[in-house]
Amino acid sequence: ITDQGGGKIACLSTESHVILNRRSKIDKKMLTALDHRNLQVVYQPQMDIATGETTVYEALVRWQDEELGYIMPDELIPIAEENGHIHAIGAFVIEEAAKMAVTLSNKKHDAIISVNTSVREFNNSQMHEKLTNILEKTKCPSNKIQLEITEKFALQAEQEHSIVLQMKKLQEDGIQFTLDDFGTGYASFRYMQSLPISKVKIDKVFIQSLLTMPKNKKLVEGMILFSKTMGFYVVAEGVESEEQFELLKEMGVDAVQGYYIGAPVTAEEIFQNL
Ligand code: C2E
Ligand code: CA
Ligand code: CA
Ligand code: CA
Repeated sequence: ITDQGGGKIACLSTESHVILNRRSKIDKKMLTALDHRNLQVVYQPQMDIATGETTVYEALVRWQDEELGYIMPDELIPIAEENGHIHAIGAFVIEEAAKMAVTLSNKKHDAIISVNTSVREFNNSQMHEKLTNILEKTKCPSNKIQLEITEKFALQAEQEHSIVLQMKKLQEDGIQFTLDDFGTGYASFRYMQSLPISKVKIDKVFIQSLLTMPKNKKLVEGMILFSKTMGFYVVAEGVESEEQFELLKEMGVDAVQGYYIGAPVTAEEIFQNL
């Protein structure tokens, strides 16, 4: 609380103080949470329209803390990107995902686990080595893991060059890439050309206004048409209703993900329902 003089107290400062305090606690507790494996990964099914099968599960990180409650990725990831623990979190999620892919395959359920990565994580020349080591350690075939990449900021030319090199090496090993949050990123169209990606995921903001905003329907139609012309496998995320599902199917998307298909759940819950 800051006293602005004359007995006036700025309430906004109180609020930002609380946020800063939570932020700094998250920052401080993150390493211990990682060490104690207090982070968890949940999995959300993605349904391939042509077969009706769950062909992919997206891995989503969760952290529940006694004092702070649930810390969702939208809060956690930006702090981790800033304090550098994003690399350790990334390694943790990939290892969990690889183990999940192996267990599913042992249970005769063939599915790919899709892991979120920030393009920033590729700004590390060890990305290829790190991934290869995890896949070896867990005995996970590389074609069982795919990476979703998203970028909200501009990349410098030399950064982009080194990221493309890292990605190409991984692609040669059989790892596929999905451009996430299509339509909202800083340079979706540019990355569709310059990065070695094979799938695009249309962001849920467009799906959620599909039935209510005629212009967005046109926009999604255009995005699907364009992506398919470019040869990409097209996924729609955030599908919550049957109406949205039917419309997207008609529009020609290859796969759908969202509460209508299934919410993110723990690995145990997936095994129970196989
Ligand atoms: P995203 O990649 O766009 O993931 C989809 C988000 O939408 C997830 O939120 C998911 O739980 C939520 N969702 C799924 N279906 C529906 C639906 O039908 N309706 C609505 N309204 N939402 C739905 P979540 O788990 O909170 O993750 C938020 C974002 O955090 C993700 O967005 C992703 O960019 C990032 N993230 C999550 N896990 C990781 C991770 O392990 N590493 C990195 N770098 N980022 C992660
Ligand atoms: Ca994603
Ligand atoms: Ca998204
Ligand atoms: Ca995202």
